[in-house]
Amino acid sequence: MDDAAFRRTFDVLWPRFRVTNWAEGMDPFEVLVSIVVSQNSTDAVTERVMRGLAAKLPVRPPTIAKARPSLLVRTLRPAGLAQQKVPRIQALAREIVRQYGGDLTKLVALPTEDARRALMDLPGVGPKTADVWLSLVAGRETMPVDTHIARLAQRWKLVRTARYDAITAKLQELIPPERRPRGHLVLIQFGREICQARRPRCEVCPVFDLCDADVKRPRAA
Ligand code: SF4
Repeated sequence: MDDAAFRRTFDVLWPRFRVTNWAEGMDPFEVLVSIVVSQNSTDAVTERVMRGLAAKLPVRPPTIAKARPSLLVRTLRPAGLAQQKVPRIQALAREIVRQYGGDLTKLVALPTEDARRALMDLPGVGPKTADVWLSLVAGRETMPVDTHIARLAQRWKLVRTARYDAITAKLQELIPPERRPRGHLVLIQFGREICQARRPRCEVCPVFDLCDADVKRPRAA
């Protein structure tokens, strides 16, 4: 799909999906913890685990830094990889206490590139986590790329690589800054509901005529 076709595709998808920013009203640190918990997990499980965690202790840097690891591992277990996620979350909490007095809102006040760099200086925070956090917490113009968006970008041949940096750069070229926070949620929803990984639902796809994916399946006559 060429750039013009992608822009038309994006315009078609934009009003079709109701999306909500799940981070709205959450504490910035809690959002960061949710992003780590959500890796290799589903949204529903992540939400349940985060509710369970919040019921046991305040999800704030000082309390998480000092919490018993065994308690955290038990709580995070349903989301998978708890043994790896808990040390990461506690290292993050300790560093946020050390660098920011436990207050991540200080990053929200920084210009986007400075905030992105500061986030990526935190242990275990890569470009994807930084971009999601900046988009959801601060409504910044980053273009996070999750597994659904990466699949779409490759199916539509916008990029010939699975590299995060290349995909986000290409999408930033195509999507204006003010449309990226909602736009990335729209693309994720489209990937979840229609252009699914195993079996794209081409028969009900609103951008069927614009799509040139190799996996596109013809509609019944
Ligand atoms: S036509 Fe099929 S492959 Fe193309 S975007 Fe729609 S669901 Fe995906």
